[in-house]
Amino acid sequence: MVKRKCVGCGEIKDRAEMLKITKNNADGKIVIEPDCKIFGRSAYFCYNKNCQELALKKNKLNRALKTSEDLKGLLDGREY
Ligand SMILES: [Zn+2]
Repeated sequence: MVKRKCVGCGEIKDRAEMLKITKNNADGKIVIEPDCKIFGRSAYFCYNKNCQELALKKNKLNRALKTSEDLKGLLDGREY
């Protein structure tokens, strides 16, 4: 099983239990749950609102992806 670390709570979990968010190398766009054709810098967090908020706090997720895009706007309104 592939394990990933949550950028929110810091827990290490199975990849399947996490939301993946990737900055596409090709065009620099941020993609949530990218398909296998997209490669780039990725970050993961648990499927819940709390970890989403923790990940957005202090720009953790932005730093992990090295982007200045508005990730909050992108993730707001997601259902978990
Ligand atoms: Zn988490």
